[in-house]
Amino acid sequence: MSKRDEKLKVTPPPETSAGIHAVTNALRHLYGKMGPIRATRGMLRLNQKGGIDCQSCAWPDPEHRTINEFCENGAKALADEATKQRIGREFFAGHSVEELAAQSDFWLNSQGRLTEPMVLREGGTHYEPIAWEDAISLIAGKLNSLASPDEAVFYTSGRTSNEAAFLYQLFVRQFGTNNLPDCSNMCHESTSVALAESIGLGKATIRLEDFERTDLVIVIGQNPGTNAPRMLASLAAAKKAGAKMIAINPLPEVGLTSFVDPNPQHGNPLSVLGLRPSKLADLHLPVRIGGDMAVLKGLMKIMFERERAEPGSVFDRDFISQNTAGYAELEAELDATEWAAILEGSGLTRGEIEEAAEMIIAARSFITCWAMGVTQHTAAVATIQDIVNLHLLRGAIGRPGAGLCPVRGHSNVQGDRTMGIWEKMTPVFRENLEREFAFRTPELDGLNTVESIAAMLDGRAKVFFAMGGNFVAASPDTAAVSAALQNCDLTVQVITKLNRTAITPGKVSLILPCLGRSEIDGEQFVSTESTMLNVQMSKGIFEPASEHLRSEVWIVCGLAAATLGARSDVDWHAFAADYDKIRDAIERVVPGFENYNERVRVPGGFYLPNPPREGVFPTQAGKALFKAAPLEYAKVPAGRMLMTTIRSHDQFNTTIYGLDDRYRGIDGGRRVVFMHPDDMAELGLAGGDRVDVTSYWADGERHIRGFEAVPYKIPRGCTAAYFPEANPLIPLGSVARRSFTPTSKCVVVSVAASEE
Ligand code: SF4
Repeated sequence: MSKRDEKLKVTPPPETSAGIHAVTNALRHLYGKMGPIRATRGMLRLNQKGGIDCQSCAWPDPEHRTINEFCENGAKALADEATKQRIGREFFAGHSVEELAAQSDFWLNSQGRLTEPMVLREGGTHYEPIAWEDAISLIAGKLNSLASPDEAVFYTSGRTSNEAAFLYQLFVRQFGTNNLPDCSNMCHESTSVALAESIGLGKATIRLEDFERTDLVIVIGQNPGTNAPRMLASLAAAKKAGAKMIAINPLPEVGLTSFVDPNPQHGNPLSVLGLRPSKLADLHLPVRIGGDMAVLKGLMKIMFERERAEPGSVFDRDFISQNTAGYAELEAELDATEWAAILEGSGLTRGEIEEAAEMIIAARSFITCWAMGVTQHTAAVATIQDIVNLHLLRGAIGRPGAGLCPVRGHSNVQGDRTMGIWEKMTPVFRENLEREFAFRTPELDGLNTVESIAAMLDGRAKVFFAMGGNFVAASPDTAAVSAALQNCDLTVQVITKLNRTAITPGKVSLILPCLGRSEIDGEQFVSTESTMLNVQMSKGIFEPASEHLRSEVWIVCGLAAATLGARSDVDWHAFAADYDKIRDAIERVVPGFENYNERVRVPGGFYLPNPPREGVFPTQAGKALFKAAPLEYAKVPAGRMLMTTIRSHDQFNTTIYGLDDRYRGIDGGRRVVFMHPDDMAELGLAGGDRVDVTSYWADGERHIRGFEAVPYKIPRGCTAAYFPEANPLIPLGSVARRSFTPTSKCVVVSVAASEE
C-alpha cells in the first residue's frame, strides 16, 4: 500500500473510550498476528511479575496485578513484536531500497520480523545478508578509522533495557565520545530540565496509589486514552474515590471524558458492556494550541487574588516558608501579567479559568499529569515550571495524593537516562563510572538529537548507530534528517522490524536484528524503569523469531570488544554471558541500585529513591524553587493558523499498527488535517477536500500536500495532523529553549485547497 492510496472513512468520534472495542481490537491483533496459543500465553505473561514488561509506554504496573494486566495498545505492541510474519534475504532480494521507500510506514512495519543481519553496500540497490562477525568488524573498522570518536553518533530509543543501555554508554564513552542522543531529547527533555532545576529530580513524584488518595487530577497536554491507556483505570479509580478531574487539551479526546473499563477484575465484571461508563473530566478546557502557560498563569493569578483576600486560605504558607524559595519573584511576575494576554494566549474565557481555579482551591491534594502537549513547545521548560509553581503554592508535592506526573511515552526511556544514556553526565555518574572501570570519560558534552542531525548534515558526524527506534520518522524536519542519514558513511540500526530509517541509508547501511523483549534470551532477564521509578525484571517466553537474532547486550558487547580491543580491559564477554555481572556494575555506579540483583528478583521489583516524594528537594538551593518567567504564547499573523501534531489510536510513537484512529472517527488513512468547520468555511473548504499545509521559517517555507481536510471539534484557528506525516513542517532549528526538544506541538501554518 503506497503512501497515497488511502480510502479515508470519517465518522463521529465515539462517546466513550476502551470498552468492548478495546477487547475485540486487542484480540484481533493478538490472535491475528500471533496465533491462538502464543497469543494466550503472551496475554497471561504481559506485565505480570517476572513476566514480559510491555514494550509500549512506561505506565507502571499495580502492586496487585490482574490476569489481563494490559491495555489494547499493550496488546498491539506485543502482537507487533511477536508476529509470525518474517522477512529475510528473499524479501530484500525482491525489494530494492527505492521500492521500499515508496511504501507507507504501516506497510513497512507490517512486513514482519527481521530474521538476519543485512547490509546495503556502497552503490548497492538491495540489502543483502551478512554474517554477524562481518557486520561487527565492518562497524568496528569504520569506527576506528574515524579521525575522532566525535564523528560517530550513538542513538538510543526507549525500548532498550537497563542492562543493554548501561553497557552501550560504557562502550561509547570508552570509545571516546558523549554523543549519546536519545528519544528523550525529543519528548520529555523539557521535563527533565525544568524539574531538575525546580525540585531537584527530573521525574514523577507520585505512585499509582496516590490516584486513590487525591482530591483532583489535572491532565494537561496529554492524551492518555491512546498514549498510556491503563492510566484511564487510575483516573476512574480516583473518580470513584471522590476526586475531580480537569482536562486541559485543545482536543476533546474521548479518553479524557469517558471510560468503560474492559478489565472485569477492576470491579464490575459487566463493566466491559459499557452499561455504566466512568465519567472522567468534570471540566475540559479546550485551550488554544500553545496556551498552557497562559492557563497556568491565569490559575495562579486567581489563587493569589483569593489568598490576598484571605491569607492562608489558599496557599500552604508553612510549606512555602519551610521548603521553597522564589515566592516573591513569582508574585511579581504574575502581577505583571495582564489578563488580556492570558485570555488571548489561552483562548479561554476568564470564567473557564476561574472554574478550574475553584476546583484547585477546593482540592487539599492534587496531581498534575502531562506529556508532549506541554514538552514540545518553545517555552516548554518555563511552562512545566509553572505547573510546579502551582503545586508549590499549595504544598501539593511530597504528601499522599499530591504531586507531579510527567507520563513517559516509551517503556524504558526513563531507565535509559538513569543508566547514563545522555549527551551529558552528572558529576556523580561520571566519578562512579571512572572509578568502576578505571578510565577517563570524555570531557566535552556530546550532541543531542537535533545537534546530531546537524552534524550529520554538515559532515562533522560520519557514522550513525541506533539502538532501536525509527530516527528519521521520530525526528522533525524529515527532509533534513533524511539527508543527514544519507550523508553518513555508515548507518546502523539494531531493530526488530523494518522501518523508514532502515530505508534511508548512509553510503553503507546495516540492519542488525535483535531479540524482542517477549523472546527468550537464554537464562537471562533484563530490567526496566517505569514512569513512577519502579524498576522490575522482564523475561521473555517465546522462542526467538529466528536463530540469527542476538540480544541487545550481545550486540553491544561484541561491538565493544571488536572496536576497543586492548584499549578496554572490560570483560565484555563475561557481561554478555551473565547479566547479573552487569547489574553488579550498575549497583556500583548508579545511585539507588543497592542490592540490585537481589531486589530486582523480588516479584514486582523495587522503587528508586525519590527525595521530592519525601519532601526533600535536592536542588542547588536545597529547596524547591519557584521559577518566574514571562508569559509566552504563539502570535499568529492573519490568514495563518496553529498546528499541533498528534498520534492516532493505532500508533505507538512512530510504529503504525493500523489505519484506524477510532477515538477520532478516522479510518483507512493518516494524511488528514483536523480543522474547525468555521475555519474551513472561511477558506472555502468542505470535509474531504484535499489541502496543502505550509509552514513559514527564516530559512523558507515547508509543505505537506494533498492531505484531506476533516471538520473537527478544535478551537478556532487551531489544526492538527498526525506525526510523522506532519514532521516535514517543523525545521531542525525550531526547538524548546534550554531543552532542545523539537516544537512539534505548535507550528504556525496556512491551509489552502491543494494544488495537486
Ligand atoms: S498502559 Fe502502556 S505499559 Fe500499560 S499495557 Fe498499555 S501500552 Fe503497555
